[in-house]
Amino acid sequence: MLTPNHVYQTPNGLTVNEIIIPDGTRWQNEDKAKAAGFKVGDLYKKTLKLCGGTGKVEKVTVHNTNDLENVEDDGEQYCRSTYNENMGSARPHFYVDDVAVWQLLKAGTGMTPSDPVGSAEVGWHAGDGSIADGGNMTSIGVEIIMNDKNVGHDAMAYDRGAKLCAWLLYINNLAIERLVTHAYWNAKKAGKTSSDIDQQCVTYVAKGHWCPYYIFDSKSEAGAKRNWQAFKALVGAYLEALRNPVPVENPFVDVAENRYYYKAVMWGVKNGICAGTDKTHFSPNTFPTRAQVMTFLWRAAGSPEP
Ligand SMILES: [Zn+2]
Repeated sequence: MLTPNHVYQTPNGLTVNEIIIPDGTRWQNEDKAKAAGFKVGDLYKKTLKLCGGTGKVEKVTVHNTNDLENVEDDGEQYCRSTYNENMGSARPHFYVDDVAVWQLLKAGTGMTPSDPVGSAEVGWHAGDGSIADGGNMTSIGVEIIMNDKNVGHDAMAYDRGAKLCAWLLYINNLAIERLVTHAYWNAKKAGKTSSDIDQQCVTYVAKGHWCPYYIFDSKSEAGAKRNWQAFKALVGAYLEALRNPVPVENPFVDVAENRYYYKAVMWGVKNGICAGTDKTHFSPNTFPTRAQVMTFLWRAAGSPEP
């Protein structure tokens, strides 16, 4: 199993395992490189910032890929396969399913030292090569892993995928209209553009990937459009929630809003790290025990098993 380089939390509750392919990584296996259209020694990822080298993110592209049978953490397996040169040329930025999120390329999140703001890089997921204003060159690719027989899996992956997309739009200050599908880029490449973005997102192109297949959940453009709009509405709601978070209600009579520790206490309460000494008192000036200090730290780390 892969060990992520860093693990971080998004403000809307996702834990992301970051294992960004190092700059300068090169193809090593001759057969695998050849099958993917490369040769040994070629760069293993594009190693180029998005949008003409600026690192600006213009869109977020939604994909579906298949659940892997008898695998719990599918994103981990997809990333491991990438590191083992078994994923051809496919390089999305994120994989998300019901249990985990994995990040494989720089997305400019600013959440880890390997992924500073403004560093978003070109992936390989939109099927439109190096077209300057195409999906690979301007957008972040999110693979939502679906089609698992286990009850609840797909609904959970769909929901978590929506949260991830919302957060990526949020940190890049992008409107919901900047959320598009793989099919959107197929259509653009084929010269089929539409002023109705949702329509372009479900425009069928022969030989183009009908993707995100499971979110479309329909062979017809009309059916896919309804289902795509439902997904987009969910992302929109999560985006709104990020932009206008509901303020935490301060239950404590002894924690005034003008104190330096106010935000820290509210954060701790909201995230289940600490509580008051009773329902209305935090007792900010009493000492914690060693047991309490460790418990607060442990909860802040996500209550891991020792
Ligand atoms: Zn796709």
